[in-house]
Amino acid sequence: MIEISSVTKTYYQANNKKTIAVDNLSLKIPHGIIFGLLGPNGAGKTTIIKILTTLSKPDKGFCTIDGFNLYTHPIEIKKRIGVVPQENNLDRELSAWENLYIYGLLHKVGDLEKKVEESLKMVDLWDRKDSVVSHFSGGMQRRLLLARAMLPKPSILFLDEPTIGLDPQIRRQMWDIIRKTKIQGRTVVITTHYIEEAEALCDLIGILSKGRLVAVDTPDNLKSMVGRYVVDIIDEEGHLKQQIFKNREEAHEFASSLNNCSVTIRKSNLEDVFIKITGEKI
Ligand code: ADP
Repeated sequence: MIEISSVTKTYYQANNKKTIAVDNLSLKIPHGIIFGLLGPNGAGKTTIIKILTTLSKPDKGFCTIDGFNLYTHPIEIKKRIGVVPQENNLDRELSAWENLYIYGLLHKVGDLEKKVEESLKMVDLWDRKDSVVSHFSGGMQRRLLLARAMLPKPSILFLDEPTIGLDPQIRRQMWDIIRKTKIQGRTVVITTHYIEEAEALCDLIGILSKGRLVAVDTPDNLKSMVGRYVVDIIDEEGHLKQQIFKNREEAHEFASSLNNCSVTIRKSNLEDVFIKITGEKI
């Protein structure tokens, strides 16, 4: 279990202007699920990951992982977690195998050669183990970062925007690998601003807006909360308006009452939920 309790983090810019990146946030993440932090750029997602992975200290509040306080027991925490950061910090001049092997040595991973092989196979890079990382595509490098984080067999994996910039097909491959890591009994915490990614992967989603957690629930419950059906209306001037309804019948009744516009009825998605709750777009 991960517990975040009343955490606030403020950054001060050079001109003394302050940004509240995380604002009095409390959250419990149970074990063995994929938890998604969903929100637009600047919502505070990376800051939360940095705090939970002991890279940044909050100004207020505290966090625990499996009952261990992050700041008083950092070694216990580091034994439990694997992190895939947003920036690619692989050694580009070394092969895939060498990247993992050296990481394993630094982290004192036992039975290292076997674990390197298992990790590379898990992300389908075993046949490219001797290739130099600089020859890898963006998607392959992301997979290798994931394999590296998995090497010490952490029970919790933090993935900060794991598929950012990847094309849709490669993104789906990453989703399959992320699901595999959960099947092995891990907790996975991902940050994303991709609606489809949150819907496709997450058992529970926390919606973040301006450093605040505005909702936490399953994707299904979040959508039920705001309404299951959306009527998209394009008026004569080409402007899009939307109206959300609890059920299909209500949406139909409303749509058939409209004149002189183009109307589409569709199921709601997490973007609709976000707009409804925050009044903003992701
Ligand atoms: P997200 O990951 O959701 O895009 P971040 O956690 O990176 O959001 O950033 C949240 C807010 O904090 C943003 O307004 C960002 O500009 C600010 N911020 C993040 N890191 C720093 C930093 N090191 N110094 C100053 N401001 C920062």
